[in-house]
Amino acid sequence: MNNINKDDINYSKHISFIADVMLGSLAKWLRLFGNDVKYFRYIQDKDLVDFASKEKRIVLTRDTRMILRKEFQRGWIDYVLINHNCLPDQIRQVYSEYKEIKKAVKFTRCTVCNSILIDKPKESVKGKVPEYVYDTQDRFIYCCNCQKFFWPGTHWEKIIKTRNFLLKEKSMSAI
Ligand SMILES: [Zn+2]
Repeated sequence: MNNINKDDINYSKHISFIADVMLGSLAKWLRLFGNDVKYFRYIQDKDLVDFASKEKRIVLTRDTRMILRKEFQRGWIDYVLINHNCLPDQIRQVYSEYKEIKKAVKFTRCTVCNSILIDKPKESVKGKVPEYVYDTQDRFIYCCNCQKFFWPGTHWEKIIKTRNFLLKEKSMSAI
């Protein structure tokens, strides 16, 4: 928690995050829900703070020492000090503090690099994805940065089920 009242934030604005090195899984899952989350496997605290400040990103961190920096203590940078070890609780903590951020699995943002994914017409991907995939799938999305195609399938169904469990919108028996 910090001293910025979350109720004062205009939620029609784009809410974006930067996660510290300890929160790679959390970053990936928030991206799966379509949220803008910058994440680097290796980054110095100073650089992370610079990104947060320049790009007005909310810092997601587990680092109790980093938040002692003046940028956090004086309220220049908004942050969530994640105080859970396990992913479901981490996700719930972020959602409890920022209720308006995206929660639906729509595959709009690349989980690898955070870029916006683009829907590609089926006919345009012929020859670029395995033939079996082309014959059995109708939706194809593309990451310009990773130069990779993605498509629904059992993998996506699993993600949606996991998401429902994480957000406890369905009972365990539905999974
Ligand atoms: Zn990508």
